Amino acid sequence: MSGPSRNTPIVEARALRRTYEAGDVPVHALNGVDLVIERGEMAAVMGPSGCGKTTLLNCLSGLDAIDGGEVLIDGAPLSGMSDRVRTAYRARNMGFVFQFYNLMPVLTVVENVELPLLVARRSAREARRRAVDSLALVGLAARADHLPDQLSGGERQRTTIARALVNEPAIVWADEPTGDLDSENAEEITALMRRLNQERGLSLVIVTHDIAVGRRADRIVRMLDGRVVDQGRSAPPAPPRPDVGARRDRDGVGVAPVER
Ligand code: ADP
Ligand code: MG
Repeated sequence: MSGPSRNTPIVEARALRRTYEAGDVPVHALNGVDLVIERGEMAAVMGPSGCGKTTLLNCLSGLDAIDGGEVLIDGAPLSGMSDRVRTAYRARNMGFVFQFYNLMPVLTVVENVELPLLVARRSAREARRRAVDSLALVGLAARADHLPDQLSGGERQRTTIARALVNEPAIVWADEPTGDLDSENAEEITALMRRLNQERGLSLVIVTHDIAVGRRADRIVRMLDGRVVDQGRSAPPAPPRPDVGARRDRDGVGVAPVER
């Protein structure tokens, strides 16, 4: 692959379709999605349960196959890559954060964080050094030798963020990263993601129900029934208005994005 160029969007979806044939009726999880993710932006993807958010994340990152349209990564079609190349690209350039952490319970915090590097055949010494650096970045150096079940939810999610960052990826995908956290921990994780975005130029795409996350993002991409109904681009910043809370439902639908 050629190196990333500065002007090409980091990820772009064109007329993206994903249909699941699980039961009698096919489910059009993605029904023609056009979306551009710019390098260095933090985008929140919001919308009601079942509208296709996770499917979108998985298709954009190449974790799931697509049935129509295309996904361009750094301008190159994902469909043009072999499985091997796609997996290698993902390992080198992408990080993932999930709602329920996906940490290995028998491994310590630092061992969990270095795992992707060992899988990518880096030396044990380099893997450990980078894992320690990554933990420091999320403020968790002191917990390196703990087991995941000795951590709070917020600390567990910081561990998965450290793990996502250990390859120094260009983009991190997060699916409901605050979904299992109380509001205080959720706020801490959201602030951490924003800081990593601003200080390190990390591109972040975050699927979330949490309007607090949406408010911190550069924009909110709204989905409904397998489509993007609002890219959150042209909307002007929301003027401060005291009654705005009344218009928010759980997904914050109807609230313009904000706050940079
Ligand atoms: P969200 O993340 O917004 O809640 P999903 O992307 O998980 O939504 O799901 C979108 C739709 O696709 C839902 O109707 C869901 O039931 C369906 N779906 C998701 N994954 C599968 C699958 N592996 N097999 C069949 N249907 C699926
Ligand atoms: Mg989901």
